[in-house]
Amino acid sequence: MTKDKSEAEWQEQLTPEQFAVCRKKGTERAFTGQYYNCKDDGTYRCVCCGSELFSSDSKYDSGSGWPSFWEPMGDSIKTEADNSLGMQRVEVLCKECDAHLGHVFEDGPQPTGLRYCINSVALKLDKE
Ligand code: FE
Repeated sequence: MTKDKSEAEWQEQLTPEQFAVCRKKGTERAFTGQYYNCKDDGTYRCVCCGSELFSSDSKYDSGSGWPSFWEPMGDSIKTEADNSLGMQRVEVLCKECDAHLGHVFEDGPQPTGLRYCINSVALKLDKE
């Protein structure tokens, strides 16, 4: 089970940047990631465990500088309250391996009205 990997194992598997974001809940700087401006078709997978997380079909340009999606794929993610940094946010995690992915906000486009604001470094695009 990928979920049971130790911190040392994740550190070995991931780049320092991937580890800082996915396992330590870091955030990449806006407009610096690989995918915020990406318009390629495909499936965005968890960089840690390979689980399918988001389809390019639900990706849109939020102007935030991070890849943004209005819905996840199936049952692939979970959310938790995040009250760090003096803000009340909802954290988005990979359901399979608990990787920190980003946050979800209620200012997205229809039909969901949601904006899944995700770090590029937490994703790996499988192009169609
Ligand atoms: Fe994962």
